[in-house]
Amino acid sequence: MSTLTSSPFWSPLAAGLSPYEPGEQPHIADLVKLNTNEHPAAPSPRVVAAITEAARDGLQRYPDPESTRLRGAIARRHGLKPEQVFVGNGSDEVLGHAFLAFFQRPQPLLFPDVTYSFYRVWAQLHGIAAELLPVDDGLRIDIDALAQRAAQGCAGVVVANPNAPTGIGLPLPAIARLLRACPDRVVLVDEAYVDFGGESATALIDAHPNLLVVQTLSKSRALAGLRVGFALGQAGLIAGLARVKNSFNSYPLDRLAQAGAQAAIEDEDWFARQCREVMNTREGLTLQLEDLGFQVLPSQANFVFVRHPARDARELAAALRARAVLVRHFRQPRIEQWLRISIGSRAQCAALVEALQAILEG
Ligand code: PMP
Repeated sequence: MSTLTSSPFWSPLAAGLSPYEPGEQPHIADLVKLNTNEHPAAPSPRVVAAITEAARDGLQRYPDPESTRLRGAIARRHGLKPEQVFVGNGSDEVLGHAFLAFFQRPQPLLFPDVTYSFYRVWAQLHGIAAELLPVDDGLRIDIDALAQRAAQGCAGVVVANPNAPTGIGLPLPAIARLLRACPDRVVLVDEAYVDFGGESATALIDAHPNLLVVQTLSKSRALAGLRVGFALGQAGLIAGLARVKNSFNSYPLDRLAQAGAQAAIEDEDWFARQCREVMNTREGLTLQLEDLGFQVLPSQANFVFVRHPARDARELAAALRARAVLVRHFRQPRIEQWLRISIGSRAQCAALVEALQAILEG
């Protein structure tokens, strides 16, 4: 990507943006890649079969603009109606549409500091003022502060549950409290990592017309490369998202994505088995990291957030990289001494632990 930081042709908006810095995706063989929370396994074989079939039959035709079959499959899995499901090209796109549809208002949008850094980028891009509420000393979201502030008037609230990059989950009563604090504003719960032991707020949708739940197939379905995410809520909110999408960006999911995503949602056995495997690996890795002296936050996600009391996090990340192990370090206040490590396969986690042992002994 170009490193150019400005050009006279850029609009003031483009020149003023501070974009999201995506995790590195290097083209290096034999890398132990634990930096962007991808799934360590290949997706369900049923996904590959469905994509192959879709590729053989019909690429010359436009895809279904409504993603009818995929939305039907997602609705069935979550006990909802198809009109309660919106799909997009990754949950990042779904989030962008939600920011446009619900949060452009005179009051500020509320979200915690720290959280997924894309929220700040979307807010800035769409001219939405953001008010960030600090997490507590244990890096937990301060629900009391967030609910009290929301009740005073806001454009809406966004929380990631489990939060990123900490991995800490919120219990459902905390989400319900936010929903009650601002009943005339949308509370967006980003559940990108919920399938690894978190509690989904989908159970609250019936009772709360202001709840929008966003999920992705990038993590627990091992489909980061296919780009499919979705939102769930009452039909009125979902219709708002469709209105923005059809005005602002009318590209539906492509045929391969629709077919592959449907097959993934319908393969419940693969999903349950693989989520269990990631969670078991996470528990094993947590113990090993603690044995090496790391503090490990309790994670309900497919990553752990760790710090070593005696070692600089940035230097540790660089030393791991020199040993072909990639983890994520954020140059961000409050979390500069922490590393986020994705849960890889058992072999990848063993390679990580071995590399850390060598670094810490050296
Ligand atoms: N939300 C959170 C909290 C994330 O960490 C990510 C992945 N970086 C996303 C949303 C976006 O995921 P995707 O666009 O792949 O669905």
